[in-house]
Amino acid sequence: MSQDDEIIEMMRCPIDGTKIITKWRCENGHEFKETNGILDFLTENVESHELLERVAPIYESLWAPLGLSLTAGTSYSSLMSLAASSMGERHLDVGTGTGKLFDYGKCRVCVGLDVSLRFLNYLRKRRPNVIAVRADARRLPFKDSSFDSASSLFVIHMLDDPSLAIQEIHRVLKDKGRAVLTVMTDNNAIDKILSRWWGLSLRSYDYYLGVLTRYFEVDKARKMGAWSYFEVVKS
Ligand SMILES: [Zn+2]
Repeated sequence: MSQDDEIIEMMRCPIDGTKIITKWRCENGHEFKETNGILDFLTENVESHELLERVAPIYESLWAPLGLSLTAGTSYSSLMSLAASSMGERHLDVGTGTGKLFDYGKCRVCVGLDVSLRFLNYLRKRRPNVIAVRADARRLPFKDSSFDSASSLFVIHMLDDPSLAIQEIHRVLKDKGRAVLTVMTDNNAIDKILSRWWGLSLRSYDYYLGVLTRYFEVDKARKMGAWSYFEVVKS
């Protein structure tokens, strides 16, 4: 099977959940665009974080590493290596940004998903082996059990209801599939400053642990400064 056929086979309509039968139309005739190699399955206008949009050009070289080492007490690259070490053959990165995670691990079918066209354009230029999909994390355009592994780093705490993204990641993972999640939680004073700056209402470490336990077996869970790290397995 060519990689094109394989990805068509893995996808489904984010509106009605039916099969994608051709590039890029579902059984019920919903059509999706492919622009500059980006598969655009966004069905409504989801605002990507305005501040993140503005930092896109410097995001991966400066913003993310600096922000993380200041707020997590660990280096960006050691965290990325850790997160990428559980990559399986088919990997989905939700909120992939510029797709930097894919530099740290190996996958055969590597899918980076984001709402931001700006980030996805960077991803396509720098990492043409990564399949760029524009879609809503709360409505993933993939069939059940289509990935061996998944990740979502520094993203889902920005959603109004992070549990929706967690449910979707669970749905698209195969049994025994592994997911790595990092989220900002209200652990300390740094969070309070950051959340005010970003205009976010943060949830607690225990909130995420509770939601994750509903769907997954939790393998690793720990607080990391302003962040929390979870590694979970679909049981
Ligand atoms: Zn449809």
